[in-house]
Parts: sequence; structure tokens; C-alpha cells
Amino acid sequence: MMSLFDLHGKTALVTGANTGLGQAIAVALASAGADIVAVGRSSMAETETAVRNAGRSMQAISADLSTLEPIERIVAEASGERRIDILVNNAGIIRRADAIDYTEADWDAVMDVNLKTVFFLTQAFARKMLADNQGGKIINIASLLSFQGGIRIPAYTASKSGLAGLTKLLACEWAGRGINVNAIAPGYFSTNNTQALREDEDRNAQILARIPAGKWGDPSDLGGAAVFLASQAANYIHGIVLPVDGGWLAR
Ligand code: NAP
Repeated sequence: MMSLFDLHGKTALVTGANTGLGQAIAVALASAGADIVAVGRSSMAETETAVRNAGRSMQAISADLSTLEPIERIVAEASGERRIDILVNNAGIIRRADAIDYTEADWDAVMDVNLKTVFFLTQAFARKMLADNQGGKIINIASLLSFQGGIRIPAYTASKSGLAGLTKLLACEWAGRGINVNAIAPGYFSTNNTQALREDEDRNAQILARIPAGKWGDPSDLGGAAVFLASQAANYIHGIVLPVDGGWLAR
């Protein structure tokens, strides 16, 4: 049974792997046997230590994903050493303001990182996966805002709803070519992304009261879903957006 989830011999590229959910996903994939290529704009030393402690190797690629400029270099640096079997599009940002006041600068910043770069990075790696005909696993990190509206985060909701649609479109185009494209929709997890919410006493209490599990997710709670979707156990799963949310959407 364990071999269904075994990732030995595979390499996973994870964006935004220096902290939060991306770091937890990188460590979980490494614990299942995958070597890691971590892409991000901040030091990934902490993640590298954890990956090495799990017995796997890690290559760090420094890149700012707010534009498409580094994509060619990322593909060249990552593929220069090995084949990328698993791509996890995790890097993302959130900008909060009432919709009535939301600025074009915030809209563009969020859409660029959360949707535009994700699409073109995925396109670049999928071209390689399709060229050697060995398939692959692509996992997008979506959100509850892929299903719901939320408040004060119009660009984030648009980007994550768009990412759910994109996940399904890419799954439809590539399923027959051996590439599985799926997404994970994390609920409310304790990371930098949600620090402002956790520090707001009222919002924190409202959120906790609505989560059937009664607590914020710990980043380590997300790793199993990533390993599952990256493994052969998910070979016939295409185009799903898998909530990992303590029961939030069931409420
Ligand atoms: P986080 O701690 O803020 O991590 C976001 C990651 O994205 C960081 O590694 C960050 O790098 C990276 N990133 C942002 N902009 C970048 C850029 N221009 N270039 C390169 N890297 C960039 O938040 P998180 O919660 O772990 O978020 C990870 C993903 O999960 C995001 O897509 C987020 O939308 C999604 N998500 C989170 C939650 C939650 O409850 N936490 C819920 C649903 C979905 P830096 O550290 O250098 O900024």
C-alpha cells in the first residue's frame, strides 16, 4: 500500500518553498522520497535543512515570480540537472482592501503572481513533460476563495477562482497525455498569508467558530494531500480542487 504514495526517483519543483504551505509541501514530498527544486525570492536555507533531514537533496533557484521574466531561466536551471516530474504552483500573495477602494496596482500584483505566472510556468514545464512523453503531476494551490466570495480580497478571489478554472482546463487538455493537473484548496492555515486575520480578534473568533475542526490548520496538515496528488495513487484523478479545510466547506 505504501508504494502507491512512494515518490523515490521523482523530482518536485515547489514555488514559494521558503515558508508556510510551500515549505510544508516540499518537506512532505521529500519525506515521501522526492528530491526538491525550491523556487522563490527569499532564502530557502530553512527548507533545505528540513529536506536534507528527510534524506533528500534540494536545489534552490532564486526568482521573483511577479513577472514572466525568470521562467526560461528557471526551466533551464531546474531541467539542467534532472527531469521535473511534479510541479507545485504554491507561491501566492494577498492584498486586502474594500472592493470599492481596490487599486489597479493591487489587482495587477495579485493576478500576476497568483494566475499569470502560474499559467506560463506551468506551460513551460508541461512542454517538457509532453516532449518526453513521460507525463507528470501538476498541483496548483488554490483556496476556499476558489469556491466562495470572501470579503476585501477581490483580486485574490478572482485569481483563485480563475486558478480552479485553469486547473480544469489544463486537466482536460493534458489528461490524455499522462499529465495530471489538480489543485488543493487549503482552508485557514497559520502562515504569513493569514497573519493579519489571526491578529484581528473579531475575525479570528468568527473564523474559528465556523471551522468544524475548531482550529487553524497547521502547514503540516497539507502535506498528505500534496503527496497523494503527486503520487501514482492519483493517476486517474484529473481536474479536481481538493479542499483541506477542517470541514469549512461542509458547514
Ligand atoms: P506565505 O507564507 O505568505 O507564503 C507565500 C509564498 O509565496 C512565500 O514563499 C512567498 O515568498 C512566495 N511568493 C510570493 N510572491 C512571490 C514572488 N513575487 N516571487 C516568488 N515567490 C513569491 O503564505 P502561504 O499561506 O504559505 O501561501 C502559500 C499559498 O497557499 C498561496 O498561494 C496562498 O494563496 C495559498 N493559500 C493559503 C491559505 C492560508 O490559510 N494560509 C489558504 C488558502 C490558500 P516570500 O516569503 O519571499 O514572500
